[in-house]
Amino acid sequence: MTTCRGRFAPSPTGPLHIGSLVSALASWLDARAHRGTWLVRIEDIDGPRTVPGAAEDILDALTRFGMTADEPPVWQSRRMSLYQRAFERLQAAGLVYPCGCTRKEIADSLVQAHARHTTLAYPGTCRNGLNGKPARAWRLRVPDGDAAIVTFKDRWQGQQTQNLATEVGDFVLRRADDQWAYQLAVVVDDAEQGITHIVRGADLLDSTARQIYLQRCLGVVTPSYLHVPVVTNADGDKLSKQTGAAPLDTSKPLVALNEAARHLGLKLNDAAATSLDAFYTEATAAWSGRIKRQ
Ligand code: GLU
Repeated sequence: MTTCRGRFAPSPTGPLHIGSLVSALASWLDARAHRGTWLVRIEDIDGPRTVPGAAEDILDALTRFGMTADEPPVWQSRRMSLYQRAFERLQAAGLVYPCGCTRKEIADSLVQAHARHTTLAYPGTCRNGLNGKPARAWRLRVPDGDAAIVTFKDRWQGQQTQNLATEVGDFVLRRADDQWAYQLAVVVDDAEQGITHIVRGADLLDSTARQIYLQRCLGVVTPSYLHVPVVTNADGDKLSKQTGAAPLDTSKPLVALNEAARHLGLKLNDAAATSLDAFYTEATAAWSGRIKRQ
């Protein structure tokens, strides 16, 4: 039997807020309910979005909330050679190609596609060569026809299907600003860390088919997926620093944890508001009950 390894993989773009606490708590409870291991990975390779000090704040808040990782946290910025090696394997297999399209060219082609009521996938402009344009990004070639259809069963959201060719198109692994794309880094890390159970926010549901396809290209195991509903603000936007998420009050962890548990639909007894130990005992039991019924 494989033992469960779960993870929380925050991008350090600001302090922990209720939305990220929900993802952290759900992944923690899932790992505990499976008597598994819970890891934290700091996804800090998106230079422009990374806020100095935010990773340390998040790690500190997790500790105050009673969630400590079972292994030392991993930082993506210290693992660049892993992404490079994976990319070289894909390159050697002829699966990637350089793309010279600018953001504007891609946006224009999507507007035209929208007007023609065709799909909003990258149209594959540079698939067969750069036509004299300088290389900017590197894309992974997705297959055509039925091979482009990826299906998986999400443990919360149910059966999912995405046609990579018509809904996404060849996607970026190495960005025009010379940074590794999230899709490549997340797949390489989840595989290298032996993650078996991915639990995260539903905003990433749409990326999952890409990640499963990339796992197949790299010959690594596909973990199970569970995407929890995202927390939204009054306008219905996913809570993030950009949409006005307030940092959590780490001096009152039980208030925020109980709110996060309510968001996950977990019905907890009053004891859950009395101590961190009682909260986690209650919440783990409630989560275990839920996954037994799945
Ligand atoms: N770093 C991503 C985020 O904070 C999450 C990645 C993942 O869980 O796969 O949105």
